Amino acid sequence: MRIEIINTGTELLLGNTLNTHAAWFGRELFKLGLRVSRQSTVPDGEAIHEVLTEAIMRADAILVTGGLGPTSDDLTREITAEVLGLDLITDEAALRSIEAFFALRNYPMADANRKQALVPVGADVLPNPNGTAPGVYIPPRLNGRSNCAIWLLPGPPRELHPMVHAEVVPRLCALSGIDRPVEVLELKFTGIGESDFHQGIDAQLAEISGLEYGYCAHVGEVDLRLIGETAVLEKAREITLAKFSDFLVSDDGSSMEETLVKLLDQRGMTMAAAESCTGGLICHRMTNVSGSSRVFCEGFITYANEAKIRSLSVPQEMIEREGAVSEAVACAMAEGALAASGACIAVAVTGIAGPSGGTPEKPVGTAWVAVALRGSATQAKRFFQPRNRKDFKQAVSQYAMNQVRRQLLDIPASR
Ligand code: AMP
Ligand code: MG
Repeated sequence: MRIEIINTGTELLLGNTLNTHAAWFGRELFKLGLRVSRQSTVPDGEAIHEVLTEAIMRADAILVTGGLGPTSDDLTREITAEVLGLDLITDEAALRSIEAFFALRNYPMADANRKQALVPVGADVLPNPNGTAPGVYIPPRLNGRSNCAIWLLPGPPRELHPMVHAEVVPRLCALSGIDRPVEVLELKFTGIGESDFHQGIDAQLAEISGLEYGYCAHVGEVDLRLIGETAVLEKAREITLAKFSDFLVSDDGSSMEETLVKLLDQRGMTMAAAESCTGGLICHRMTNVSGSSRVFCEGFITYANEAKIRSLSVPQEMIEREGAVSEAVACAMAEGALAASGACIAVAVTGIAGPSGGTPEKPVGTAWVAVALRGSATQAKRFFQPRNRKDFKQAVSQYAMNQVRRQLLDIPASR
């Protein structure tokens, strides 16, 4: 089934608003076993005329977003009716629900909002419980000009997303005749790069018939996406893990932080973090995970030397002798965090993000990461990746969290 997306909005082309709809539709449709074959973005106003005229010649289904508002540049409804040669009429039920939307909020309704109840003759009105603009569904063959299904949908994501789930997905599934979504396996790896995969397994994966695969590199992570039938996926997974199981973070799409929360939970353990160069990013990532309060107990953002001394009991003379970015200080930070928090395991990071502050011995991009575990010797590792500050923070946090993950894997799960 050929599905096209048309996103309208001048703000999307001026760069004021990121077009999140395009990616969102890609993901949502893929879950159904469908794919977007083409996506176009056009400014507000007349521009939709041309792109819609072209799209109806190619597509089986078209999803249009935006331009359903009450203002003069919101012309999606009017132009679609014109392209299809359909008259617009006021849908009384839609008008009443727009009036009710304003009445409920004790807000006077402007005359301009009345045009939001206009729909092409024969089309379905799609209720919008989260805004004033109802959506529109124009089934295939409603007129002689188009053989494709067309949805007109609101621009704001909080209105669009629920409407797609309630009104678009069931109709799209019925039209496509797909009853079983394709299977996807997403394996996340850290500590290796795309080129390692290319060298290590690419040729073997390419030989598996019926397998579609692709890599996607992020800072500190490579995702391997496998698409195909169950048996095919199992074979691809076996080949991949035979080579790279040491680097596998998850095989169910879970992020590093989700994986850590799960591992800690299974072991009944708590974790603390002492962060210098990552400025709280590890705490932020851990606490993004629902359920993290059971396992993540405390974070110390000790950016200045005095903070490391005061909050983590790092000896001042150690900082003077070894430097704040050193194996000794990283270990002392981790042990200090363990003692101060009472956690079972603590991770510490200290590094030089740059662009200034590097020396020949400790160039920009250097970090020391230490993990202290109750009853074990603290382990430290040197990290080196010169990057911009934001990516450096992400990469160091990923590396540090991975050190925790690896230590946790050596501890048996208790539940
Ligand atoms: P509209 O329905 O065209 O009036 O859009 C209203 C608002 O929805 C815009 O101001 C944006 O904030 C948001 N919006 C519209 N289209 C998109 C899009 N493609 N991606 C993200 N946000 C969007
Ligand atoms: Mg708009």
